[in-house]
Amino acid sequence: MRILVVEDEKGVAKFIKQGLSEAGYAVDTAGDGEEGSDYIAVMEYDIILLDIMLPRIGGIELLQSIRKKNIKVPVILLTARDGLTDRVAGLDAGADDYLVKPFAFPELLARIRALLRRPPIQNSTVLKVHDLEMDVSRHEVKRGGVLIDLSPREFALLEFLMRNNKQTLTRTQLIEHVWNYDFYTGTNVLDVYIGYLRKKINTGNLKPLIRTVRGIGYKIDDA
Ligand code: CA
Repeated sequence: MRILVVEDEKGVAKFIKQGLSEAGYAVDTAGDGEEGSDYIAVMEYDIILLDIMLPRIGGIELLQSIRKKNIKVPVILLTARDGLTDRVAGLDAGADDYLVKPFAFPELLARIRALLRRPPIQNSTVLKVHDLEMDVSRHEVKRGGVLIDLSPREFALLEFLMRNNKQTLTRTQLIEHVWNYDFYTGTNVLDVYIGYLRKKINTGNLKPLIRTVRGIGYKIDDA
């Protein structure tokens, strides 16, 4: 497993590199965002540890450019204690996790192991099922590249279905996640909204993606 550490504080970079090497990982270190970007262009990493405050190219900017190139390597951000805005921006930009400096080394190792255990996932802000794409942070849905206009409730329902791709969701799960209050289960509001969604995303001869699972609920599936 090869890890890239992008960190401009030499002492911190050295400490991380030493610890990771002792734990059996291959480690490269880059001292600024530009150098990090160069490494990523030529080498395939299993994990990237990315400081946010970096000279030349900042951590968030670097992360955005990685995700734009569709590189799905897990990224752990290293942030300052008071960097809440940075952490939020970083997670929205596609970071998988973050650690607040100073951190305990066993925690870093545990987070790395957790990410390596995870199956490769879709870029967390863009969900895809067949030719249906949802950019969660931009609040955009496209089918075959064509923008689809959804109400907030329709968007929430579709997002929940897409995040659980191929899994059957019960009526209760759907209603509780999307409507967020105790809903009278006899109501047909869920079916009405599923109907709206189907009309909007299954136009023409496009493959139907939202399936009814008789007596249970619904799922989205391109099989
Ligand atoms: Ca820094």
